[in-house]
Amino acid sequence: MFEIPSFAQLTDQINSCTDEDIKRSLRAAHLSTHDLAVLLSPAADKHLEAMAKRSADITAMRFGRTTQIYAPLYVSSFCTNRCSYCGFSADNKIERRILSLDEAEAEAMILHHRGFNHILLVSGEAPAKLGVDYLEKLALRLRNRFASISIEVQPLSTEEYARLFTAGITSVAIYQETYDRNIYDRVHIAGKKCDYDFRLETPARAAAGSMREVGIGALLGLADWRAEGLALGLHLAWLRKNFWRTGLTVSFPRLRPAAGEFQPLCEVNERDLSHLIFALRIFDPDVGIILSTREEARYRNGMLGLGPTRYSAGSCTAPGGYSDPDTTGEQFSIGDQRSINEVCAAIKQKGFDPVRKDWDAAFQLQ
Ligand code: SF4
Repeated sequence: MFEIPSFAQLTDQINSCTDEDIKRSLRAAHLSTHDLAVLLSPAADKHLEAMAKRSADITAMRFGRTTQIYAPLYVSSFCTNRCSYCGFSADNKIERRILSLDEAEAEAMILHHRGFNHILLVSGEAPAKLGVDYLEKLALRLRNRFASISIEVQPLSTEEYARLFTAGITSVAIYQETYDRNIYDRVHIAGKKCDYDFRLETPARAAAGSMREVGIGALLGLADWRAEGLALGLHLAWLRKNFWRTGLTVSFPRLRPAAGEFQPLCEVNERDLSHLIFALRIFDPDVGIILSTREEARYRNGMLGLGPTRYSAGSCTAPGGYSDPDTTGEQFSIGDQRSINEVCAAIKQKGFDPVRKDWDAAFQLQ
């Protein structure tokens, strides 16, 4: 089982790194988790340009000049948890909705016609309203229309992940939100999500359930970003070692304005986010790095090729929002409002290929 050191230990490790350590870690062919601590340290701040260059070189070598494109499809805003930072928190008085299977399929077809081949089904955590049966039925309806279907829903058992994989869902995103136990307890006020360890073990259950790809992440703005990055890197390294056949991605969503008006507990600016992305890319050359529409177009354009490998586009975070743009009840407001065509045009303008399809279910049979 993966165990995480305390944030105080992680912070001590990060703060003890020196300028000489940075130079050594930047020259290393294979990086240890200690090297990751070095790259995340305050001493590394003045080496950010060298880190950006190394990160860009590795990204080009491993992924070519490409950026994958996907869209989220919100199917339900019901949630039994009270997470103080989230618009869907059970506390918030928002208009809530769960899409019927027909409605969800219609939303998916809008994305399909807009040119999306990879979709991410997203819901709040309310298993009595939206459980494995719903996801299985929806996946069976969509599997022949999309190259890949991912989910970001409540944590499930290994058996449930295996069942969904058979139905055509190939990837799971499950973010710890924060690896700092004290802050985790503070912001998760009620509901099943209060169980830190159960959530921490979920990516391993998804991998054990045969998922082709598992995404982990931390919500930036809750705890110290350097220690959060190191904790995430330790989790990533543990998953790589124990589930070497599973593709892995990381994401660092920054807090966005949402119902409830939660204020971030700490500031994470664009430079900090870039620092995290470069450090993780140099640490794990093969990991997919997601940069979502939480970030503004200007920043996403600037980060093309420097580390991230996957962008969402044309996103709406309210169930039913693609067929009715006036739909309210979003999870959070997005930073990049561009359509898929505008995002793809910006990617091409920088000399990269937007990739709408990089997987086919036929591979699964081999
Ligand atoms: S973060 Fe997830 S579990 Fe928490 S309130 Fe929002 S949707 Fe529910």
